[in-house]
Amino acid sequence: MHQFRWALTRRCPRCGHKPVFESWYRMTTTCGECDLLFEREPGYWVGAMTINTAVIALLFLGTFGTAVWLTWPDPPWAWIAAGVVGMNLLFPVFFYPFAKTLWMAIDLTFQKVTDQDEFGS
Ligand SMILES: [Zn+2]
Repeated sequence: MHQFRWALTRRCPRCGHKPVFESWYRMTTTCGECDLLFEREPGYWVGAMTINTAVIALLFLGTFGTAVWLTWPDPPWAWIAAGVVGMNLLFPVFFYPFAKTLWMAIDLTFQKVTDQDEFGS
């Protein structure tokens, strides 16, 4: 389970090495410690996009539902709409690097590393 803790701190989910990002979004090709190739196959990051989409959908439902519930019977619809739209625009941009490392942690849980997943092999 440590791979998920490392993923939530934007570390390599295999060994915990940091940094694995050159900037907020730009990930290094391999881990500087364990040489894991981060993009293990073409289309690999679709899993990260799925996680990002699922998290924002849950956050939207939770925020919208809570806002309506707290302000019922007279919810300020315009403010609630502005808030959830703003959140839906900004949160995925912030969360995407975490979605990538979380996806890698999930993938490493179910698909063990082979020689082809390590740089220089
Ligand atoms: Zn590593």
